[in-house]
Amino acid sequence: MCWRSSWSPGPYLWQLDQTPIGLDAFVWAVAGGAAATNLLHRWAHDPNPPAVARALHRAGIVLTPKRHASHHAPPSAAAYCVTSGWLNPLFERWRVWTRAEAALVAIGLPVSRGDHD
Ligand SMILES: [Zn+2]
Repeated sequence: MCWRSSWSPGPYLWQLDQTPIGLDAFVWAVAGGAAATNLLHRWAHDPNPPAVARALHRAGIVLTPKRHASHHAPPSAAAYCVTSGWLNPLFERWRVWTRAEAALVAIGLPVSRGDHD
């Protein structure tokens, strides 16, 4: 007996084989960047970070506890870049975060000022 299904995964699944490699690379880069940012933020709060983190802090390559302190100081409305902190002065000058918060409020989303890690 020969059984043939009329089911088809549809055009979306068929197109997965034809996805350009650039899309996969982009998704992996975003995922890797998000994971790294979370770790770098954690190290900025860690009173005893691993040796590699201390070396990166000394070199100023990643977010240092000192550079990150202004983010958690009241009113906690600045220095949102928690990867390296390098962009914070530029973002502050351009009022990127203030404008982003205003956009969130404009669409009805609350802006938290509580302490967060
Ligand atoms: Zn923090």
